[in-house]
Amino acid sequence: MTEVGGPQLDQVRRLITAIPGPRSIELQARRSGIVAGSIGTTLPVFIERAGGGVLVDVDNNSLIDMASGIAVTSVGNSAPHVVENVQEQVAQFTHTCFMITEYEAYVDVCEQLNRITPGEHAKRSALFNSGAEAVENAVKIARSFTGRAGVAVVEHAYHGRTNLTMGMTAKHHPYKKNFGPFASDIHRVPNSYPLRDGRTGEEAAAHAIRRLSVEGGVDEIAAIVIEPIQGEGGFIVPAPGYLAALAEFAAENGILLIADEIQTGIARTGEWFACHHEGVVPDLITTAKALAGGLPLAAVTGRAEIMDSVHVGGIGGTYGGNPVACAAALGAIQTIEELDLIGAARNIETIMVPRLADIADRTGVIAQVRGRGALIAVEITTPGSLDPDPELTKRVVAECHRQGVLVLSAGTYGNVLRFLPPLVMGEQLLLEALDVISDAFDTAI
Ligand SMILES: *Cc1c(COP(=O)(O)O)cnc(C)c1O
Repeated sequence: MTEVGGPQLDQVRRLITAIPGPRSIELQARRSGIVAGSIGTTLPVFIERAGGGVLVDVDNNSLIDMASGIAVTSVGNSAPHVVENVQEQVAQFTHTCFMITEYEAYVDVCEQLNRITPGEHAKRSALFNSGAEAVENAVKIARSFTGRAGVAVVEHAYHGRTNLTMGMTAKHHPYKKNFGPFASDIHRVPNSYPLRDGRTGEEAAAHAIRRLSVEGGVDEIAAIVIEPIQGEGGFIVPAPGYLAALAEFAAENGILLIADEIQTGIARTGEWFACHHEGVVPDLITTAKALAGGLPLAAVTGRAEIMDSVHVGGIGGTYGGNPVACAAALGAIQTIEELDLIGAARNIETIMVPRLADIADRTGVIAQVRGRGALIAVEITTPGSLDPDPELTKRVVAECHRQGVLVLSAGTYGNVLRFLPPLVMGEQLLLEALDVISDAFDTAI
């Protein structure tokens, strides 16, 4: 399995014990007395090794990974180029702080990001540690450049867990509950949700723009921050033309368009970035998750004149662009190109969508199969209606987990089952996961 990378693990589903197994249960009990209870866990299983499309737990069960650690290990766990680069870098030096003394890998990662992000204009990049930190910095840069305070975000948005990004996030529980007060000058406008709003992209954009004009004041808005396909919101793909219309409105009104591609970016959707599908060129783009093959790294990339407008020293951080994480990112990008993982993401869509559509036809509980590339979801509703069915969603998730397939739920109403397989997953394993998911629906209904 060397071509899929990672440790030489059999690419199979293998259940030796119940899930979770006895050793995981023991560790979970130990954890409960030590780790803060507020940190949730989707599946209380402890992992020992992972690679390709599988996670092997401490009881030697081999689970099929349809989550990639939330769209992070797109190149697989411990992909060879990532491991080699990290080992070499970690033995040379682990940290200098790029704001104190420099190193070339930071420049190399920025150069790659400037190359692969949408648009042919001159670009600059800055590196950070987490997605939320990248979003915060994109907003800081937009405010500094425009001299305006307002930030427009959309319904169902997810942008992170820091104070500013919590305020920009739509869903109250669990992200915002008891954590206020939040930052001001954030204006939420309608998204485009074809299943539920019945609007064309142009209509949805006009609706959003009208709301923003009335409630935000167009000339006080620094930026529209938007996920081109909403992630935690439930893989909501906007109607065609919605993003382009927002981009046009922004350009005409001195507002920056910031694409939050933290979940959708870096080959996940069958293009380097989801914006590529829409022909939209954002002014600034945020990346994180899949950027460094599992190591923490995030970035803001954008138009040179915007990025360079901020005063020297205004943007940065102790660990941002850590050399080990940068080495990993270079390995991840190399892996994506060598293995054509953009093509692999498209192939995953081709395999998954018809199989999920079959489940929808057979069961009547799936209102929509949607997504792009290897970012695919089903929205689960009561048959014959659009009423969300989060309880059935939970039962399907639990059944998949019992059968050794790790899946995640999402969606503002908790009724979306989302799939984010590593792009290196083999076809047989993916088909097996789909069989398990199909059976899980029959068992759970
Ligand atoms: C995950 C995510 C974030 C936050 O990233 P963290 O690394 O968890 O801070 C922001 N925006 C989007 C779209 C995300 O999916």
